[in-house]
Amino acid sequence: MSDTAGLRSSSCATELVCPACDSRAELTDTAFRCPRCDAGFDIEYDYELAKSRIEARPLSDRPRNVWRFEELLPIVSRSAADRVARFAGQTPLIRAERLGAELGLRNLYVKDDSTNRPSLSYKDRVVGMAVARALELGAAEIGCVSTGNVGTATASLAAAVGLKPYVFYPANLERAKARGCRALGAQVCQVDGNYDEANRACRELTEATGIPFANISLRPFYAEGAKTLAYEVVEDLGWNSPDHIVMPAAGGTLSSRVHKALLEFEALGLAETSGTKLHIGQPTGCSPIVKTIVEGGAEIVPQVPETLAQSLAIGSPGDGPLVLEAVRSRGGSAADVPDGEILEAMELLASTEGVLTEPAGGTTVAATMKLAQRGLIRPDDVTVIVVSGNGLKTLNEQPVKPWPEGVPCNAATMEEVVVEFREGGVTSSV
Ligand SMILES: *Cc1c(COP(=O)(O)O)cnc(C)c1O
Ligand SMILES: [Zn+2]
Repeated sequence: MSDTAGLRSSSCATELVCPACDSRAELTDTAFRCPRCDAGFDIEYDYELAKSRIEARPLSDRPRNVWRFEELLPIVSRSAADRVARFAGQTPLIRAERLGAELGLRNLYVKDDSTNRPSLSYKDRVVGMAVARALELGAAEIGCVSTGNVGTATASLAAAVGLKPYVFYPANLERAKARGCRALGAQVCQVDGNYDEANRACRELTEATGIPFANISLRPFYAEGAKTLAYEVVEDLGWNSPDHIVMPAAGGTLSSRVHKALLEFEALGLAETSGTKLHIGQPTGCSPIVKTIVEGGAEIVPQVPETLAQSLAIGSPGDGPLVLEAVRSRGGSAADVPDGEILEAMELLASTEGVLTEPAGGTTVAATMKLAQRGLIRPDDVTVIVVSGNGLKTLNEQPVKPWPEGVPCNAATMEEVVVEFREGGVTSSV
């Protein structure tokens, strides 16, 4: 239990456990992969203890941040948890009636993680957990390998708690993400190669330098942060788990940990979650998990990414096997979406709900549309679309409607321009 001296959190984490062979390691161990089979370690909890602690502390006493169900998170140091507490989580669940009308879905919600703090993506949840772990270990530095958003989350959160951040990202990252990391004071290194190549190099680097990497050596802890998204969705629906949650997938952390979170709420008697189907969307140019699900395969075949959805451009997904389990065990499905449809879906979300997302959000909206068309999501089903990242960071790369050449807009012509807008928009030069 958390004590008055503030030394211990109420985390009920017990051990590191290998999801493949059930090998175990102590929570204080800095190993992140199973020495026997190389699978990433997962965190195990004492759920009986968690149940009694959760029942003992009413919701009204719990903070409105990612630590709301601290019992189910892996950080045992009270002060480490407190130092990142003011950031991620508690993003809005928007009743999306206008988007729903377009998709033919009457009970549609958008979980808007594009508003997350401090860096406007779902990565604030997971990196927040990794930063807390780094503090708990007494580290002075933290590194990460990033398709973009892990970088800005690590740079921001490290700056806020006084860790020195190192960000490694692949060559083709969106400009605002790379520049954002530099503007936040991170040591930034652009690796010649794609994400999967940068990831392999960083795995060696973390061993050679001892710098903890948020999404490599701290990964078991990092991943747990994603569960908080699902806890919030279920609570915000009045302790009702939705019929469907549609998520983007890159490495597969988000979708696999949302599954884990729903299992936990079920086991703790907090909500009936077994009817919730999980679906994933990926860009066609990087859809190794979707392909495996659609074809009913057993193994994920890595793919060299070719898509404008940079934050989803992971061709060799580390948590892929867990995503297969998450989707299949719940009777969910998957859809891949070509880049052109991703851009259209981004525009649709923006113009119906006022939510400016990056291609990852467009991917889930477009995937939802496909699943509805295929009858896998029915019109009255309660459906949650996860919008995981903000469009402000990708605007430089996004084609937007051009202002037609030769249309001057000044005090003398403004009224004329408005008349043209009213008559269906300015489409031709005058
Ligand atoms: C990283 C990321 C994802 C994918 O997350 P995984 O947990 O790696 O599957 C989705 N959306 C955005 C915006 C991201 O940055
Ligand atoms: Zn193992």
